[in-house]
Parts: sequence; C-alpha cells; structure tokens
Amino acid sequence: MFGKYHRYFQKTGVHMQKSIVIIGAGMGGIASGIFGQLNDYRTQIFEMHSIPGGQCTSWKRKGYTFDVCIHHLFGCGPGTNINRLWKELGAMPKELVYTKDCVSVVSPEGNMFHDFYDIETLERHLMDLSPADTDVIKDYVKANGHPPAKICGEN
Ligand SMILES: Cc1cc2nc3c(=O)[nH]c(=O)nc-3n(C[C@H](O)[C@H](O)[C@H](O)COP(=O)(O)OP(=O)(O)OC[C@H]3O[C@@H](n4cnc5c(N)ncnc54)[C@H](O)[C@@H]3O)c2cc1C
Repeated sequence: MFGKYHRYFQKTGVHMQKSIVIIGAGMGGIASGIFGQLNDYRTQIFEMHSIPGGQCTSWKRKGYTFDVCIHHLFGCGPGTNINRLWKELGAMPKELVYTKDCVSVVSPEGNMFHDFYDIETLERHLMDLSPADTDVIKDYVKANGHPPAKICGEN
C-alpha cells in the first residue's frame, strides 16, 4: 500500500519510520511499546481503561483496594530472562521476596497445608499431615525429582 511512498522517501532520503498500533496497556502492550520504540518503531498504545497496567494493577474504591496484581512471579531470579526483561521495563521491584511455599490452604478441620518449594520439606510436611499416605507421598516426591523448584530461581 505504501510502496510508492516508500520509494519516494527512499529517493528523497526521507526515512519512513515503521509504526505499531498496540491495543491495550497491560504488561504485554507496554512491553511492545517500549521495545518497539527501542527498535526504531513509532508506537501508539490504545487503552480503554483510565489507567495502564491491565491485570497487573490495583485501584481504590469506597475505601477498598482492588488488587488484581501479580503476587508470585515465577522464574524471575537474578540472571534469568524474565528478570532482565522486567528490569528493562522498569517493573522489577528493587528487592525480591523469596517465599518458602507457593500456596497455603487450610482444611475445614483447621489443618494447614503448605505447598513448600523445597521438595524434602514438602515430603516431611505431607508425612506429618498424613502418615497413612507414605507410599503415595514418596512416589509423588520421586516423580517431582530434584532440585526443588524455587519461586524466583533460575528459570
Ligand atoms: C488476580 C490475578 C492474579 C495474578 N497473579 C499472577 C501471578 O502471581 N503471577 C503471574 O505471573 N501472573 C499473574 N497473573 C496474570 C498476569 O497479571 C497477566 O498474565 C498479565 O498481566 C497479562 O498481561 P497482558 O498485557 O497480556 O494482558 P492484560 O493485563 O489483560 O492487559 C490487556 C489490556 O488491554 C486492555 N484492552 C482490552 N481490550 C481492549 C480494547 N478493545 N481497546 C482498548 N484496550 C483494551 C485492557 O483494559 C487491559 O488494560 C494474575 C492475574 C490476575 C487477574
């Protein structure tokens, strides 16, 4: 469509900059905008909400905070691609908080289950909760293998 103009600009030495139109200012759209500009594209982001951030944001209403933001970011430890990317976006917190468990759930009887990242800690915890399931727990731990997954570990 722009072929003849492109040739004209080439001939006259005027540089026709490529452009990207981005729908949505979530992390994906914001990243596209930033990396687009870093790679010499003109970028425009259209966002239907009054604030950017998409699912990675929070807002206040009638004294309540509605926080739909990311709580766990997996594979974001120092040296990983995610860490580098989020730093370049200016979205990486200065300090990473490492947690011992991914999630905790309390049963109706009041027993707390922690899904520990460290597989040996998890094994001990599961055994304490349900000694009768020792064989199944050992199979599960074996199937998950070592080393244990970490929330902010190396990929
Ligand atoms: C409660 C919750 C907890 C989460 N926890 C985690 C977590 O712990 N770890 C993790 O890694 N991820 C988590 N996520 C997922 C993570 O937040 C999202 O995967 C990520 O933010 C998605 O980014 P996105 O840019 O692809 O999309 P979105 O953030 O959905 O952004 C899309 C944007 O496009 C806009 N938009 C849509 N249609 C139009 C249109 N027609 N015109 C203009 N604008 C439009 C929307 O308003 C929005 O701002 C969580 C998500 C939620 C909801």
